[in-house]
Amino acid sequence: MTLRPLNIDPSKCFIAGAWVNPIGQEVLPLLNPSDGTTLCQIARGKSEDIDAAVNAADAALAGDWGKATAAERGRVLSTIGRAVLTHVDELAKLEAVDVGKPLAQARADVLALARYLEFYGGAADKIHGETIPYLDGYTVYTLREPHGVTGHIIPWNYPMQIIGRSVGAALAMGNACVLKPAEEACLTALAFAEIAHQAGLPAGALNVVPGLGAEAGAALSAHKGVHHISFTGSVGVGKLIQATASENVVPVTLELGGKSPQVVFDDANIDAALPFLVNAGIQNAGQTCSASSRILVQRGVYDQVVAAMAARYNALRAGPALDNLDVGPLVSPRQKEIVEGFIAKGADLTCVARGQIIDGAPIGGAYVTPTLFADVPPDHTLAQDEIFGPVQVIIPFTDEAEAIAIANGTAFGLVASCWTENGARQMRMARALRAGQVFINNYGAGGGVELPFGGTGLSGHGREKGFEALYGFSTLKTVAVLHG
Ligand code: ADP
Repeated sequence: MTLRPLNIDPSKCFIAGAWVNPIGQEVLPLLNPSDGTTLCQIARGKSEDIDAAVNAADAALAGDWGKATAAERGRVLSTIGRAVLTHVDELAKLEAVDVGKPLAQARADVLALARYLEFYGGAADKIHGETIPYLDGYTVYTLREPHGVTGHIIPWNYPMQIIGRSVGAALAMGNACVLKPAEEACLTALAFAEIAHQAGLPAGALNVVPGLGAEAGAALSAHKGVHHISFTGSVGVGKLIQATASENVVPVTLELGGKSPQVVFDDANIDAALPFLVNAGIQNAGQTCSASSRILVQRGVYDQVVAAMAARYNALRAGPALDNLDVGPLVSPRQKEIVEGFIAKGADLTCVARGQIIDGAPIGGAYVTPTLFADVPPDHTLAQDEIFGPVQVIIPFTDEAEAIAIANGTAFGLVASCWTENGARQMRMARALRAGQVFINNYGAGGGVELPFGGTGLSGHGREKGFEALYGFSTLKTVAVLHG
């Protein structure tokens, strides 16, 4: 396939509206996870490239972008969203090949990106300050202002969706962005920068510097000219980023994974639940921070749910991204090794079903067989740690109190869901579950661009998506006028 459908040059950075070589002139190989071959070379950006990107962002804030009205920013974002829709097929193919995700899932990600831009394009001029009653002779009001330069360090699992929710919201509020995509998958980030520029985003409002986390990523998070960091990725790197940001005293939004449960009560509509129970675990080969990796089932329907989930697992097929099967490869051999390590740690558990890797799947691809365990003790490693692969555990429970204790019994708290027809229990569970998002009788419905998203505990802090993100990507100024 051609890697330049949109004129992108992955061996370069996109800074100040132009493709530029990394200053060190170095490149890194980008792997095709479906067959293990090298797709292309990408720029190995370093601190001097981050400096150039931050300078470009500063210049944009001092220039046209900084002067644009909220309505003008919104209009540009809406135009970019429509431009994305004219490239759906190219972007989907690029993302599928780069990340290794089945084409249909990559296509859904393109549509989600466009939807974020539509949403934030429409929202840009709908964020208002307040007037505050104060002392006699005063008028007091608040202004929502951009932070300035925002740094966006994103992972490889959903590049387009994460760009939509973080860069989209940051631009809506008038920030200028420096984006460090993951070294495992950065092609759609570069393509997006080109599309946005062609659609009218002023030079420097969005700059993209590919490179290694320890080099470009670390330089971005430590940069003194960056006024807000949003990070999506692993807990370990999230802690590093928070520590670095504390040196510069800048706010951070951390979105760091989870161990999200779905709780199925005896009175649940099992037929309605089943597709969600499985899909929320195996979508994107389980490499989803909000994947539902724990299924808690009440004993009255336990055997029925285990059997029905096992039947679905046995039918799952894994293969190359462009074959568009249920599950693609993992993003890298390293990720495959980690996930297979977890499956090996389940040797003492009951494995009730495994999918299959299709015949003819390239030997060099990072394929992992989807695997379902049942009767898993809640304190087992597989029920506690984030696996980030197509592996789910089923845990039995007896009553509501036990379900809550198990559901809340990990260090994470990103998403949770509860399946029950009992309205009072729905309300109790929604309050009791420790998570940034709770779904009742559904799970992660449709991307949820409008729905604030983020975690508690090791899942991170701060909220993206919805209007809430616009508050996060802006700061509040109080103006007190004494006029007598
Ligand atoms: P994963 O383990 O899933 O690859 P990471 O947290 O390592 O997740 O990576 C997420 C993003 O963070 C990537 O863009 C990566 O390059 C970046 N990153 C990794 N290490 C660092 C670091 N020390 N400082 C800043 N960014 C980093």
